[in-house]
Amino acid sequence: MAERQTEPCVVRVALDLPLRRLFDYRFPDEQHLSAADVGCRVRVPIGQRQRIGIIVAVGVASELAPAELKPVLEVLRDQGPLPDAWLRLTSFCAAYYHAPLGQVMLGTLPARMRALAPARTLAGRKPGRSRPAAPPPPLTAEQQMVLGSVQADGCGFHAYLLHGVTGSGKTEVYLRLIERALAAGQQVLLLVPEINLTPQLEARVAERFPAAGLVSLHSDLAEAARSRNWLAACSGDARIVLGTRLAVFAPLPELGLIIVDEEHDSSFKQQDGVRYSARDLAVFRARDSGVPVVLGSATPSLESWANATGDGGRGRYRLLSLRQRAVEGSRLPLVRIIDTRLEKPQDGLSGTLLQAIEQCLYRREQSLIFLNRRGYAPVMSCPACGWISGCERCAANLVLHLVDRCLRCHHCGFQTRLPRQCPTCGNQDLRPLGRGTQRLEMVLAERFPQARLLRVDRDSAGSRKQWTELLRRIHDGEADILVGTQMLAKGHDFPKLTLVAAIAPDAALFAADWRAPERLFAQLMQVAGRAGRSERPGEVLLQTQFPDHPLYQALQHHDYPGFAAAQLKERRQAGFPPYAYQAMLRAEAPRMADAIAFLAAARDCAAVAAAAGICFYDPVPMRLSRRANMERGQLLVESPSRRALQAFLADWVTQIEALRAPARLRWHLEVDPLDL
Ligand code: ADP
Ligand code: ZN
Ligand code: ZN
Repeated sequence: MAERQTEPCVVRVALDLPLRRLFDYRFPDEQHLSAADVGCRVRVPIGQRQRIGIIVAVGVASELAPAELKPVLEVLRDQGPLPDAWLRLTSFCAAYYHAPLGQVMLGTLPARMRALAPARTLAGRKPGRSRPAAPPPPLTAEQQMVLGSVQADGCGFHAYLLHGVTGSGKTEVYLRLIERALAAGQQVLLLVPEINLTPQLEARVAERFPAAGLVSLHSDLAEAARSRNWLAACSGDARIVLGTRLAVFAPLPELGLIIVDEEHDSSFKQQDGVRYSARDLAVFRARDSGVPVVLGSATPSLESWANATGDGGRGRYRLLSLRQRAVEGSRLPLVRIIDTRLEKPQDGLSGTLLQAIEQCLYRREQSLIFLNRRGYAPVMSCPACGWISGCERCAANLVLHLVDRCLRCHHCGFQTRLPRQCPTCGNQDLRPLGRGTQRLEMVLAERFPQARLLRVDRDSAGSRKQWTELLRRIHDGEADILVGTQMLAKGHDFPKLTLVAAIAPDAALFAADWRAPERLFAQLMQVAGRAGRSERPGEVLLQTQFPDHPLYQALQHHDYPGFAAAQLKERRQAGFPPYAYQAMLRAEAPRMADAIAFLAAARDCAAVAAAAGICFYDPVPMRLSRRANMERGQLLVESPSRRALQAFLADWVTQIEALRAPARLRWHLEVDPLDL
């Protein structure tokens, strides 16, 4: 008894520092400590400062002598400890993505929970009174089948891939699944790629479940609102959490169902800091919590498709299909391919397309011209001396934005006034090269002076407010011709829209990135899916120089499974994911030589010499080799075995950390990289 009092009780704490280690502290004697305190936030001294950390273990044997241990200053008991499931999820994330545990843990918490002072009690949003809900539509036969399959599986962990063509009523399936979970007293996590792009979904969920205390969690929320919503999720007041990737970490004590909508979308991948995939973490979380997870898409990622179709002997997900549109009488649009070698477009528009737009106007229906490039023209040039508008800070061109008369870099944000004359030779006749949405809008305005035009891209719909207003105008039929980027492709229902045209999709066909066809197909299928969603039939026109390309052929037949099978076959032959597992080490420095030398040194690490079954590529400059004055290189590592790769990375990353590097060099490791 006496002896126990002289032994300080030691707690191990995770702190938000870029260090791959945990920190031991002495626990004040007067505070009672038990295993139940794991997950508590504590205020601790570190160096000259104080920080908030999270207890990850109690009663540990420290390597430090008792006298060297600093004391915990305060245990914050304003909230209960973070739950075990949350600790397991963040620990898995840190281990799998080789990120410091403290950074993962603290990085996922809202500001209130990271503050040094205890949070004043925040009331969660009170569930509203049953704000009466519209009766749901009777299910289609396919929807019934899908729901029946899920129900037959019972509770517990199951992973489903819900593949439904555009407009097939996936959302209605989600709503019914949510309804069932709520009735069973469970909480639901619904993840979406970008909340701003889909205000309709939020409205639909809120309308259907007015008493569920729906909260949203995304990065556009003000800190106070995010904290409040997070606490409502954590306390169980909120029964439905609708959020973007970060919401995958929200503690949900009664979690019963996870849904990932548009699961193929690359926004589920965090692109800086800890580069996690929220979709993959959602599957881990569902398994860990023993609940079902539904991944939904009209164009699933090839990884998920392989998991669901048993390709490669896996079949880890169960495939559920909706092959037909839900609305009575609505069919998938007719896809026509315009061979631009035979029919030369003028100003980007072929005669066939112009005619189709005209007929659409005549019928008082809407058309959407899709061009995934904002601005007026991607580059400005001088025909006299060959000058082109390059960004001084990036290996990229400045894009001409005629609307605000400037040249702008889409990579670093650099912006400059439109020059009146060529900066090298003084020629005043500068020419825009190529075509962006602004230019297309002007061409269409000249061609169809009587039509009401609406351009929808990140410039015209930058804020949520602008975007909502544009969507309203489209819905209310205040526009005849829409010119838009992929912003318009996702999940919208525009009842008057019957014509969709992609005017220049070819560029992505032969891109260096082998994932480009997958992305192009998904993008075109999504945008095509906007056409003819109500009773009026839809038509899709594709302008291409390669009309026989298998990608366009598959698109014409709405044949995602055929396209996916062909792509997977190619990937298997080439040994690409999902038949291999990859990690990317990237380094950036003011000079490329330094970045490459660092990567080369990483390749010479002892861990590399000892690695078995791992393939190393050469360090090379990235495709965008300079960005904001930093030159960038990359080193790809690959293995047919995920386990072998993981074991290697754990070793490797600590050795890379020990490497000497020039002061301004930065590096990071990305597991399962999407952009190569
Ligand atoms: P998806 O998410 O698959 O693109 P949605 O769930 O948005 O499709 O449904 C497309 C359209 O079909 C919506 O207008 C929706 O209201 C309608 N819908 C869905 N299910 C049904 C149903 N069972 N009966 C009638 N209409 C339905
Ligand atoms: Zn010139
Ligand atoms: Zn730039």
